[in-house]
Amino acid sequence: MRIGFVGLGNMGGPMCRNMMKGVNHEVVVHDLNPEAVRACTEAGATAAESLAALAASCDLIFTSLPTPKAVEAVVDGIAPNIRPGTAMFDLSTNAPAVVKRLHAILAEKGVALLDAPVTGGVVRATDGTLVVMVGGEEAVFEQHRSILAAFSGQLVHVGPVGSASVAKLINNMLLLCNSAAAAEGLMIGAKAGIDMGKLTAIIQNGSGDSAGMRGLAARALKGEFKASFALDLAYKDLGLAVDLEAEYGVPGLLAPQALALLRMARGMGFGQLDTTAMLKVYESILGCEARL
Ligand code: NAD
Repeated sequence: MRIGFVGLGNMGGPMCRNMMKGVNHEVVVHDLNPEAVRACTEAGATAAESLAALAASCDLIFTSLPTPKAVEAVVDGIAPNIRPGTAMFDLSTNAPAVVKRLHAILAEKGVALLDAPVTGGVVRATDGTLVVMVGGEEAVFEQHRSILAAFSGQLVHVGPVGSASVAKLINNMLLLCNSAAAAEGLMIGAKAGIDMGKLTAIIQNGSGDSAGMRGLAARALKGEFKASFALDLAYKDLGLAVDLEAEYGVPGLLAPQALALLRMARGMGFGQLDTTAMLKVYESILGCEARL
């Protein structure tokens, strides 16, 4: 089997390399960034000449792309050449409506598109233990289970196409609301002059802990803001979650507030930094840093 992998960034890169270690198939890769391609060809993949060539030669295609627009652009690029019977898993955090629309377009060509967003961040992408949630044809999921398992610690078939994207957006809504609450709380501590090491130890061993809190402690409180999960991507995810609240009539009380915080952070020029740079909004307003 030939496997295509498109989008080799912070998440796609390590997922692709773990897959190559775990399966005995030829892997063809494509990314707009030549450095990202090189990191995978050095690990044994072949660089595709073009998206069209990748589409024409692969039986299974993965995408890990930043935005719904990017996924649409890649599907546009592969659709004319993709072969009937090909399976495609979109590992990106995507809009459920976009996934469903692309699923319908590809179904007409005899191609099954499944949404397969992931959670666990760069750390678990690197050690191959991501949670992968899958929406779409269950038989296609089962057929490729062992390949997905090469970069996953847990695989969950959620339901029909689009359902995994809903689950992923809810997960990220919780992460980002918890991150915002943790950033706000830590700034109270910083202004009150509490030792940040002692404060984070209490929270991380207490009932206030969360993945958001752990991310802040691991990066922002050490003054490290290089993107592991870019703030711009978090903004996209939370915007999509707020769209779902509107679609289903859920009274959004918390998510829109956290979205406004991310919007401020982008306005202050922090969009390319890590999501935990949301702390910098408070730091700028208060003229005080929260550091370990
Ligand atoms: P990234 O920006 O690091 O990587 C995206 C890659 O896609 C880049 O290498 C870019 O060059 C490439 N790309 C963009 N448009 C392309 C196109 N048209 N054709 C080919 N390549 C293209 O992003 P990431 O952090 O790896 O995230 C990828 C997806 O996974 C996103 O949907 C994100 O929301 C999701 N995600 C990220 C994390 C995280 O912690 N970073 C965790 C879970 C899910």
